Amino acid sequence: MKDLTEESKDHQLTVALRIRPINDGEIEEGATITAHRVDDQIVVLMDPSEDPDDILRANRSREKTFMFDMAFDHSSTQEEVYVATTKNLIAGVVSGYNATVFAYGPTGAGKTYTMLGLDSEPGIYILTLNDLFKAIEAGSDNMDYNVSMSYLEIYNEMIRDLLNPASGYLDLREDSKGEIQIAGITEVSTNNAKEIMLLLTKGNKQRTQEPTAANNTSSRSHAVLQVTVKQKSRVKNITEEVRVGRLFMIDLAGTERASQTQNRGKRMKEGAHINRSLLALGNCINALSEKGGNRAQYVNYRDSKLTRLLKDSLGGNSRTVMIAHISPASTYFEESRTTLIYADRAK
Ligand code: ADP
Ligand code: MG
Repeated sequence: MKDLTEESKDHQLTVALRIRPINDGEIEEGATITAHRVDDQIVVLMDPSEDPDDILRANRSREKTFMFDMAFDHSSTQEEVYVATTKNLIAGVVSGYNATVFAYGPTGAGKTYTMLGLDSEPGIYILTLNDLFKAIEAGSDNMDYNVSMSYLEIYNEMIRDLLNPASGYLDLREDSKGEIQIAGITEVSTNNAKEIMLLLTKGNKQRTQEPTAANNTSSRSHAVLQVTVKQKSRVKNITEEVRVGRLFMIDLAGTERASQTQNRGKRMKEGAHINRSLLALGNCINALSEKGGNRAQYVNYRDSKLTRLLKDSLGGNSRTVMIAHISPASTYFEESRTTLIYADRAK
């Protein structure tokens, strides 16, 4: 088996940025385009109060130019985003390594589109699962593989099974090997892509969505698709070694700040929880991105449910991909600026 340790030091953290297309509603509101992809890695954000044609001048101003490992815009397809960000994680997961891909950004910037997508434009969840099944079919004849998936949400620091919402709130537990498990979560084993899309779409409708002042379909929960690949030798007299690789694909809650949503009471509490998970995740990501990123640096995974769940899938030999999302519309300028600064700093 290939040793990914050396390689993964270079590729441990990848940060991508996706600018969704401007939409008719935004154009009707008189919004202009403020975010441009300059090349495969560089994005420029223009202050809407400045001349929108003067890209050159903005490009010269350092604080408005942001650099990523890769940048996508309205011309990028679902397939392109998937191939560049996630496809190359599959081989590692099949050989027993863990990986995490998450979509980050404000509500309405395209996170769910990237991860779940539409029936006609399937996203990373389904494209990954399809290739994962292919990789396993092409895999060694001496191995038995088992793939299972769970789909859950973290809302207010509570875990709900999106494939069986009636089961209430679930607990995180460490098993005898010290690995994190979600007690009582539904695990589905199927390689039927259509069935999976149906399950995920249905599960997504179970996500906790309540109106806020900022956006009435604001998503206040983190949706987590957990895919587990177990590999066991078929050769009977060989020591029974089961190798487990896990891939987390996460559609994070919107990153808009509590102040922007003008919420009080319950909403404020939600905001605090969301910030707690995002903050904890951000701290983990920052630690990973430190030069020479070593595990010795203390990372407090226990700070939130999200990071506890991801404990074995961030850092170490695991690969992490962050896909930050923005809208190009001038009405999103502040959110875009915050997101670009956050994602740029993450690297
Ligand atoms: P989020 O999950 O970040 O709140 P969504 O994924 O729901 O945002 O996107 C908001 C709207 O924009 C949806 O109607 C979605 O279909 C559309 N959209 C997002 N990204 C794209 C894209 N790259 N191409 C076309 N439509 C998109
Ligand atoms: Mg969404």
